[in-house]
Amino acid sequence: MKAVVFKAPYELSVEEVADPRVEEPLDAVIRITTANICGSDLHPYEGRAELEPGMVLGHENMGVVEEVGPGVNRIKKGDRVSVPFNLACGTCRNCTAGWTSACLRANPSGQPGAGYGYPNMGPYWGGQAEYLRVPWADFNLLHLPEGTEHESDFTMLSDIFPTGYHGTELAQVAPGKTVAIFGAGPVGLMAAHSAAIRGASQVFVVDHQPDRLRLAEQAGSKVGLEVTAVNAAETDVVEAIMDGTDGFGVDCGVEAVGYQAHDASGQEHPAMVLDNLVQVVRATGHLGVVGVYMPEDPDAATEPAKEGRVAFDFGSAFTKGLSIGTGQCPVKRYNQELRDLIIRGVASPSFIVSHEVALDEAVDAYKKFDERADGYTKVLLHPDA
Ligand code: NAD
Ligand code: ZN
Ligand code: ZN
Repeated sequence: MKAVVFKAPYELSVEEVADPRVEEPLDAVIRITTANICGSDLHPYEGRAELEPGMVLGHENMGVVEEVGPGVNRIKKGDRVSVPFNLACGTCRNCTAGWTSACLRANPSGQPGAGYGYPNMGPYWGGQAEYLRVPWADFNLLHLPEGTEHESDFTMLSDIFPTGYHGTELAQVAPGKTVAIFGAGPVGLMAAHSAAIRGASQVFVVDHQPDRLRLAEQAGSKVGLEVTAVNAAETDVVEAIMDGTDGFGVDCGVEAVGYQAHDASGQEHPAMVLDNLVQVVRATGHLGVVGVYMPEDPDAATEPAKEGRVAFDFGSAFTKGLSIGTGQCPVKRYNQELRDLIIRGVASPSFIVSHEVALDEAVDAYKKFDERADGYTKVLLHPDA
C-alpha cells in the first residue's frame, strides 16, 4: 500500500510499504478514507520528538472496515468507523476506569498510553496510508452512519474535537461561564466550538495568526455565540481579557498551544501561555492544559523545547487557588456524544478544514502546514482521491 513514511526531521516520503494485516484475533484492518495532519505530527516532523525512521505517520484516522480477526464480533467488514488516536486494550485498570489515554498494556515500552505513528506510543503504524491495523478493534472503534455524509466533520472525532472538548471539561466550562482559550490552532478552535456548545456566555481566543483568529470568530456561530478574537501580536492579551470581563477575569482557561509557545516575534517561551492563563483566570477558577509539554529528558539536547521543567508562576496559581487539569485526551470518553451532536446538527467541527488533498500530496502539505503558509490550518488526506 501507499503510505506517508517518516525518514528524518523535515524529510517524509509517500511510498509503497507492506500491507497491514490481521495479526491478532482482536485486530481489524481499516481502509482509510480520511486521515488528518495534526499539530502533534509537527513534534516529530521538526525533530523535537524522536521518531524511528520508517514509521508510517498519522493518528487521526477514519475509514471502512476491510477485515476483522476471528475474535472480533461487534465490528463487521463494511462498517464505517472513527479510530480514536489512543490505542487501548479496554481491560486494564486505567481503560476500565475510562482513561484509555493511559492504557497500561498497549504500549510495550511500559509507559502508560499508546497510539498510532507517534513517538513513544508503541510500534503501531499510523493511518496516513491506504490501510491501518487497529488492535482490540471491538473496544477501540466508533461506529459512524453509513455513506459519506459528514466525512470532514466525523474525521475530527479521532482526536482534536474530543481533545478540544477535554480542554473545556478539565476547565469545567458550564452554562454561563466565561472562558479564555490560548491557541487558535485546530485544538484551540475545537475548544472554542466546545465551549460554545457547553453554553459558555463569553469566549476569548488568543493567537498571533489573523487567519486562524478569523476562524475562531466563527466557532460559536452554530449556537449564536460571538467569540472574541484577541490578537497577541497587536494587543496586551492579559489587559484585553481583564478589561473584557470588567476586571474580574475568566472562570475557565484552556491551554491549546503547548511548550512551543512563542511571542509575536517568534521567540519561544514555554511558560508564556501558562503565565498568561494564571493571570487571566479568576481566583478559584479552573485550567485545562491540553497543549503538549514533554517530560524532562536529562539526555536530550539542551534547547528549551526538550525541557520538561517549565518555569511558570505556580505561586500565583497557588495563591489564587486554581485547579489545573492536564494530559492527553481519552477520546472514547467523548466521541459518541460528539458524533451525535454532529449528526443532529448541533456541532460542525469541519469549519476549520482549510485543505483536502490526495495522499500523494502529503509531503508538500506537511511543509506548508509546518510553515503556517497562509491559510493552512487543518489538512485532510484522502488515500482514495
Ligand atoms: P498548532 O501548532 O496548529 O496550534 C498552536 C497555535 O498556538 C498556533 O496557531 C500558534 O500561533 C499559537 N500560539 C503560539 N504561541 C502562542 C501564544 N504565546 N499565545 C497564543 N497562541 C499562541 O497545533 P494544534 O494542532 O492546534 O495543537 C495544539 C497543541 O495541542 C499541540 O501542543 C498539540 O501537540 C496538542 N495536542 C494535544 C492533544 C491531547 O490529547 N492533549 C491532542 C492533540 C494535540
Ligand atoms: Zn492529532
Ligand atoms: Zn488498557
